[in-house]
Amino acid sequence: MTSLLARILLSIMLLPLAVVVYLAVLLPLTRGNDEVAFTAATSVTAVFVAIYWLMLWRRSVQWTLSRISLTIAGSVGCLFAGVIAGLAAMGVSGIRDEAFGVFIGGLVGAVLWLPVTILVWRERPAERAERIRQSASDVLFCPRCGYNMTGLQLARCPECGAQFTLNELFAAQRHQHEIADAASSAEERPGRASV
Ligand SMILES: [Zn+2]
Repeated sequence: MTSLLARILLSIMLLPLAVVVYLAVLLPLTRGNDEVAFTAATSVTAVFVAIYWLMLWRRSVQWTLSRISLTIAGSVGCLFAGVIAGLAAMGVSGIRDEAFGVFIGGLVGAVLWLPVTILVWRERPAERAERIRQSASDVLFCPRCGYNMTGLQLARCPECGAQFTLNELFAAQRHQHEIADAASSAEERPGRASV
């Protein structure tokens, strides 16, 4: 299993785990004050979801200043949306129980926050191009046998013995990058993804 696949599976597990955390906090408390129990369960689950999600994906995100600001703004926006949804749910349903409002508000806030972070954290096309360019410029492969020639002082492949001029080597790398580009765009096409 690749680490990306593991993280995708762990992302899918977030929802059932959040339900377990929610119930684990809620059930022992419901004998007392319902409103306190639902508020505590919602708060603890929100913190759990946020930490779990951040731990899972933080290393895959390029943390620029604008992305950090957007993440904070998006989180505050989701918090507001949750509060409004909770109040609206109480108003529309006529259920005057604040525990119900907290439950609906927490649900809406969490369900909104995950896609917001995905949209904000997603790599932009310019960042992707830059990443491919940088990772490609780090290595130099033999055009004939694919041996990694990075760091060699001669333009001769120690593996297959082929001799190149520098411009032949560079031209071949450019060609390799075009193939890599085509392969990675193919990966992004739905239905053909290989994780
Ligand atoms: Zn070679």
